[in-house]
Amino acid sequence: MNYQPLPDDVRFLLQAVLDAPNRLRALAPFAEVDDELHAQVLGEAGKFVAEVVAPLNRGGDEIGCRFDHGAVTTPPGFRDAYQAFWQAGWPALSAAPEDGGQGLPAVLEAVLYEWLSAANHGFTMAPGLLHGAYACLEHHGSSELKARYLAKIASGEWLATMCLTEAHAGSDLGQVRTRAVPQPNGSVRVAGGKIFISGGEHDLSDNIVHLVLCRLPNAPAGPKGLSLALVPKILADGARNAVHCERIEEKMGLHGSPTCVMRFDDATGWLIGEPNRGLAAMFVMMNSARLHVALQGIGLLDAAWQKADAYARERRQMRAPIVPATRGPNDAADLIIEHPAIRRILDTQRAWVDGARVLAYHTAFELDVAKHHPDVARRDAAQRWCSLVTPVLKAACTQQAFSGASECLQVFGGHGYVREWGIEQIVRDARITMIYEGTKEIQAIDLLVRKVLADGGAGLGTLLDELAQDTSAATGVVDRFERLRELTRTLAEAARHDSALPYWVADDYLRAVALALLGWAWSRIEAGLGTDTPDLAARWQAPAQALHDWVLPEFNMRVQTVLARCDRARLV
Ligand SMILES: Cc1cc2nc3c(=O)[nH]c(=O)nc-3n(C[C@H](O)[C@H](O)[C@H](O)COP(=O)(O)OP(=O)(O)OC[C@H]3O[C@@H](n4cnc5c(N)ncnc54)[C@H](O)[C@@H]3O)c2cc1C
Repeated sequence: MNYQPLPDDVRFLLQAVLDAPNRLRALAPFAEVDDELHAQVLGEAGKFVAEVVAPLNRGGDEIGCRFDHGAVTTPPGFRDAYQAFWQAGWPALSAAPEDGGQGLPAVLEAVLYEWLSAANHGFTMAPGLLHGAYACLEHHGSSELKARYLAKIASGEWLATMCLTEAHAGSDLGQVRTRAVPQPNGSVRVAGGKIFISGGEHDLSDNIVHLVLCRLPNAPAGPKGLSLALVPKILADGARNAVHCERIEEKMGLHGSPTCVMRFDDATGWLIGEPNRGLAAMFVMMNSARLHVALQGIGLLDAAWQKADAYARERRQMRAPIVPATRGPNDAADLIIEHPAIRRILDTQRAWVDGARVLAYHTAFELDVAKHHPDVARRDAAQRWCSLVTPVLKAACTQQAFSGASECLQVFGGHGYVREWGIEQIVRDARITMIYEGTKEIQAIDLLVRKVLADGGAGLGTLLDELAQDTSAATGVVDRFERLRELTRTLAEAARHDSALPYWVADDYLRAVALALLGWAWSRIEAGLGTDTPDLAARWQAPAQALHDWVLPEFNMRVQTVLARCDRARLV
């Protein structure tokens, strides 16, 4: 069974829950984007994902990518699908019209990438970096570089990579050693080795544009001495640049995406942005990539849920303790979906997928507000949301993708552990999302230490105040916000006794923030249902209940864990 996007569900979340089309129309570039255009884009995107991309997923996993003397062949059908993808204009969805893009809202792109990841994570890795590369070049590139590369990246005709990691420099990018030596003609010669580069070499596009973190001669040590260079595989005169793929990794999952060991042998490149300001330029790319990884998590969890839900509606085992409506007088056993233990697994994952969708789509919306809103205070508030919520979504959605997909595998019993049903592939594929684009530990530290404690909790406090004013926020939602505020104060005070304290509890703190936001997201969904949509209410009722019974109790547990550790810190 291949993944099937459900545009009606997403349309309900965008329109009835987030009021996105109306709010977007208040931003000048989207004044003409009406409900009909939203529906049309979602409908066409769903069709492309279901008909072209999803059917290639199984082959992508089983056949995978092949390496031969520096060349990489992607799985059967991938090249044709990618060519059809960019020629149909999908990568350019939210790029600016002046760069050849369609100028549509980021939230539509977010939905597209969520569906693509659900349908075929391996395939989606290649175009997944395009928007980040586009944003990075648009913000920081020279006019010459933009003239040569921006339109090709915006359209997706040429794919891009993000070359950060080196064997000794993973989370700690300050240790990057790849060198860039300036040349009299304004170019740089790039030399060094990178590992784990997604799409470093492949046959999907005719050129690959590498964005390489590197160090100029005499640059300061550490992160403040990093620069960013653009290094194309094929140069403007058609010559092959000195960039080589040495091998591709054998991996636990994600076999449809080549993970490459790259060597730069004095390759020709050009700096993007100021010397020694490479990390700032790269962060534009990484923030966009982090939201995309959160969307990968949401998509993969939805794909796992779809498979498990369909299986649970066919498989019969034993009699359920509650007499189900479907039980006939001669039935010896009930569908396993009638067993509360299985229902609980399914409804819990549904609660995560739908609540996380609201948060991720809202973040994509705020990205556009931060860029286009006429009021500076509103732009600042949007920027605050993106900065605080992106690490929360990246860490929480990917952790849930892996643990939730594993729970969905449980629904199949032994049949989930064998390959036939494809659920084990999702568990293997989902695991990497917790690691790349900043591990979940790095996200938690980013949130708590760099963003929350750095301003004494003021930014998060303001964000929670804004959400609490939302008329749809139920009492429980506001109570959890209040407890988060208190927790932040207690933590800040206890950290004066033990400076390592935040690093011990950052993961619990991030989970508590994620759950408080999930509670808010669901209160919006429940308000959006209203009373005049009984059919819709039935679809959303079970996950809403699961949220309260099985998901939100973790909030108290996380708060207690942090408080206990604060008590210990005070005793030291
Ligand atoms: C399939 C795949 C695709 C990838 N694609 C790309 C790509 O396209 N481009 C690219 O540049 N890289 C890519 N990566 C690399 C990926 O981003 C790194 O693996 C990741 O950043 C972690 O670095 P590391 O593996 O060296 O682990 P390390 O940094 O060595 O971390 C090991 C463990 O220590 C923890 N840790 C490290 N530092 C801290 C700290 N300060 N505080 C708390 N905990 C810490 C980590 O959370 C982790 O659990 C990819 C990796 C894989 C496997």
